[in-house]
Amino acid sequence: MQRSIRLPPTTSASQLTCFTMCARKFACRYILGIEPEFRSIQLILGSAMHSAIGWWFEERIAGRTPDVTTAENVLAADLQAGAAGVPVRWKTSTPESLEAEARKLLRVYLAEKGNLAVKSVETPFQVDIVDPSTGELLPRPMKGYFDLVLEDGRVVELKTSSRGWNEHDLARHLQVGAYSYARNALEGGPSKVEIHVLVKLKREPRLETFLVERGEQQDDWWTAAAAETEYAIAAGRFPPSPSQLCYECEYASACLSGDLAPASERRVIPLRARDREPEPLPAG
Ligand code: SF4
Repeated sequence: MQRSIRLPPTTSASQLTCFTMCARKFACRYILGIEPEFRSIQLILGSAMHSAIGWWFEERIAGRTPDVTTAENVLAADLQAGAAGVPVRWKTSTPESLEAEARKLLRVYLAEKGNLAVKSVETPFQVDIVDPSTGELLPRPMKGYFDLVLEDGRVVELKTSSRGWNEHDLARHLQVGAYSYARNALEGGPSKVEIHVLVKLKREPRLETFLVERGEQQDDWWTAAAAETEYAIAAGRFPPSPSQLCYECEYASACLSGDLAPASERRVIPLRARDREPEPLPAG
């Protein structure tokens, strides 16, 4: 019997990135909806930093004057909430060491960027993706959030990383490309996307800032890559990509269990570009 698979109705920078890293992991997360086996401290830290920085700028947008101590308390509460009720892979860290590290990172960020003229925080967007080789609309539009939008129109993407970034990281970065494409599509180009990377070196954390300025034509590499990836997802093939990253994979057991139906017995329910509604599931 054929097993039908329904794709999420929209794509995202995270989906594209996940699929290109490991299609099997993509299937576990976005199609089968499998509960992750653990939460990584990188995820907990990244999410808490986003919400503390978001809180800071929302206070300023509301005309208030936030203070660093309260921002750190917001951060600590988010770290605790992120680690509550789920298995966490702590490795050599502890809740206390993670909090101390996070507080340092937040202080570095607010000292350098706390006065930015931010217009909005966590701004949602949805844009169509057009295949540059055919001019056709892809069935799934892309949904996402701009972390910060500045008064001058720049978009800021916040990242935490255990290593420094360089220009080579940006040229083919699917997430950065997605935000540049979305901004060009929504506002007209050239878009200015600023990436703030908080590098969490134990002794001396630092902040790196990169500016990516691209017009619509310069988005072509990303658009072609996104289209190829979307076609591959729609084909319903989810092979594993075994690598050293498997040790860090929160779906490692599910990957081994073979919960996906065999590829030959699987059919992806296609989406129609015109109305974005999935076809009805076949009876039975
Ligand atoms: S364990 Fe490795 S191959 Fe399996 S889903 Fe995770 S990353 Fe992919």
